[in-house]
Amino acid sequence: MYTQSEQAFAEEVRAFVRAQCPANVREKVTNAVGITAAERLAWHKALHARGWAAPHWPVEHGGTGWSPVQTYIFSETLAEEGAPDLGSFGLKMLGPTLMHYGTPEQKAHYLPRILSGEDIWCQGFSEPGAGSDLASLKTRAVRDGDHWVVNGQKMWTTMAHESTMMFALVRTDPDAPKPQMGISMLLIDLKTPGIDIRPIILLNGAHTTNEVFFDTVRVPAENLVGEPHKGWTYSRVVLGNERLSIARIGLNRRQLARLKQIAADQGLAGVPHVRARIAEAAIELDALEAMATAMLDRARAGVAPGIEANMLKIKGSELQQRLTRLLVEVAGRSAAPFAPDAAMDAGDAGKPWLGRLFKSHFDTRVVSIYGGSNEIQRNIIAKTLGLGAAR
Ligand SMILES: Cc1cc2nc3c(=O)[nH]c(=O)nc-3n(C[C@H](O)[C@H](O)[C@H](O)COP(=O)(O)OP(=O)(O)OC[C@H]3O[C@@H](n4cnc5c(N)ncnc54)[C@H](O)[C@@H]3O)c2cc1C
Repeated sequence: MYTQSEQAFAEEVRAFVRAQCPANVREKVTNAVGITAAERLAWHKALHARGWAAPHWPVEHGGTGWSPVQTYIFSETLAEEGAPDLGSFGLKMLGPTLMHYGTPEQKAHYLPRILSGEDIWCQGFSEPGAGSDLASLKTRAVRDGDHWVVNGQKMWTTMAHESTMMFALVRTDPDAPKPQMGISMLLIDLKTPGIDIRPIILLNGAHTTNEVFFDTVRVPAENLVGEPHKGWTYSRVVLGNERLSIARIGLNRRQLARLKQIAADQGLAGVPHVRARIAEAAIELDALEAMATAMLDRARAGVAPGIEANMLKIKGSELQQRLTRLLVEVAGRSAAPFAPDAAMDAGDAGKPWLGRLFKSHFDTRVVSIYGGSNEIQRNIIAKTLGLGAAR
């Protein structure tokens, strides 16, 4: 799949990760044990020091100038090695949006801080009743002198509790002829008085996401991105960037290797039914990678991704779910959270995955929902193929 020089580049990246990212942190990532904000920040700073925090950014803003192929190899190699994900919100979603639509002051202030990890961002788009139908969002921002005054509620705001800043969609013109036309994007400092961040505890007990309430929150006028009421256009750029990063081929490769290992640990590697299902997943992964490679070939020729990005999102997320489900099935009782006690049993030692597989199984339920649910992706594909209306 890769040329010789691309292969050499992958090895350089692999060596860097192994040297700079502590093995215990990579092991935690591999076993879906949450890492601390400090561990993630330390890895962010190591990448930043090497000039690799935002490889996809243009050189003028601190990026690497790599080709799309190199950028792809870089992120997949990091995932294969179990390096922590720096998160998409600042580096992949807001950064490129500010480069296009931000004021010169916003670019000068925020881009270096995203790159260095000084500001940690979260995405305040969804609300109760405004997920797939995002244009119906109700959080209101009213201009008052040099400020916008924000009232309302955001929902499912991932990492808000560990973030310093939020980029939010707010309604600035309730009387616009179409709901999409009355929305703006605001950059909100989460320390501003009137903001209340409340945890949402997920099915697996994890606290990764939140509800965020705004009660008369005063946001400086210069924190509005681009022009007023153009937030919907900007949000399309943000969401396009999010979808491209959801296929996770490197992560799926790592999970497949883990699946084979655990099947062997459990004495199931030779069972025909198990072998067949692992083989099916491996074939799906190769097909996904072939699709990504075809997209890279077009990228080499300067062609931007079309509905392939939506297809990759669907297939990549479905495969993540299939693999984590298979992991649970193969591990049996040892997948469950009570299994660490069972680890005391003779024979269970040396299995770092014990008791941890349910968590990643539940974690991956969300990948077919966020970034635009898979049903919405299918609507977009259908519309592009001339098969019907999409939202
Ligand atoms: C764990 C988690 C983390 C998240 N993190 C963030 C975040 O950081 N920031 C943020 O802004 N949002 C975040 N989201 C929100 C996410 O983007 C929304 O949940 C998603 O867009 C779906 O919206 P909804 O939950 O309102 O469901 P709904 O829109 O009510 O959808 C419910 C179901 O109906 C289906 N459906 C809806 N409309 C259609 C249609 N037109 N055609 C076919 N089927 C349809 C959907 O596919 C889904 O299955 C997160 C969500 C979760 C669960």
